[in-house]
Amino acid sequence: MDENAHKRFVLENSLRKAVENDEFLLYYQPKVDILSGEITAFEALLRWEHPDLGLLSPAEFIPLAEETGLIIPIGEWVIRKVCAQNVAWQQEGLANLRIAVNLSGYQLQQKNFLLFVQEILSETGLDPGCLEFEITETVIMQNPDFTINMLNNLRDMGIHISIDDFGTGYSSLSHLKRFSVNTLKIDKTFVSEVESSATDAAIASAIIAMGSSLNLRVIAEGVETRGQLEFLKEKLCDEMQGVLFQPAHAA
Ligand code: C2E
Ligand code: MG
Ligand code: MG
Repeated sequence: MDENAHKRFVLENSLRKAVENDEFLLYYQPKVDILSGEITAFEALLRWEHPDLGLLSPAEFIPLAEETGLIIPIGEWVIRKVCAQNVAWQQEGLANLRIAVNLSGYQLQQKNFLLFVQEILSETGLDPGCLEFEITETVIMQNPDFTINMLNNLRDMGIHISIDDFGTGYSSLSHLKRFSVNTLKIDKTFVSEVESSATDAAIASAIIAMGSSLNLRVIAEGVETRGQLEFLKEKLCDEMQGVLFQPAHAA
């Protein structure tokens, strides 16, 4: 077995046990209103504290979790944990903030997904307005009719919906009009180049203008420099997220 195949074998076996063994944890990163500088929400980002390999980031295990179907119990753990954590923070007296969960396309395709979300909300007593789901543009476009319908149902429950990594997929404008979403997240690959690439600056500006004309909030992810922030401010982007303000960190 070559080194990669061996690592995969080790990961797959240990991923099966990771949920039971409580090896996952969530990092949180704030989303910030560019004008007021106030925190509007947090995004939960999954980490796996592997007993031998140490702290693993999602890119190292989410694809495997999706291939093996383990993304379903893992994704359920994330939603449950985020709702419970939010209620705990509110009980400690922190302001009612929204927390965003990244969803895999496989989760949306679960027949009982809406029911599951409803159950978690009533179990924990969390206001649906304090929950947000982020779903990538690519996942939406793989099956637009189905996904738009699901997102409409989630929006009707009062949950905030964002399109993640916006600009990397191929949404047609006619689909975008039908998306029942609140926020577009400009992908960090464009944000990182707004100062050096005229094309990326044009794409970021176009997303901001389009979002605003469709009455959507627009947030830029991966903001690392003052220059990027100045650009976004000038283009009237609503919110930002990135290491410039705060990296993702443990709760
Ligand atoms: P994403 O949702 O687009 O999250 C943004 C990623 O950018 C995160 O990486 C975050 O830590 C990172 N980031 C934050 N600020 C900066 C910055 O200023 N510069 C740069 N270069 N990067 C920044 P992370 O935590 O490794 O997550 C990667 C992806 O894994 C996420 O992309 C999301 O698609 C996925 N993911 C994370 N948590 C979950 C989860 O609970 N479930 C599922 N299905 N996917 C998840
Ligand atoms: Mg995200
Ligand atoms: Mg993203």
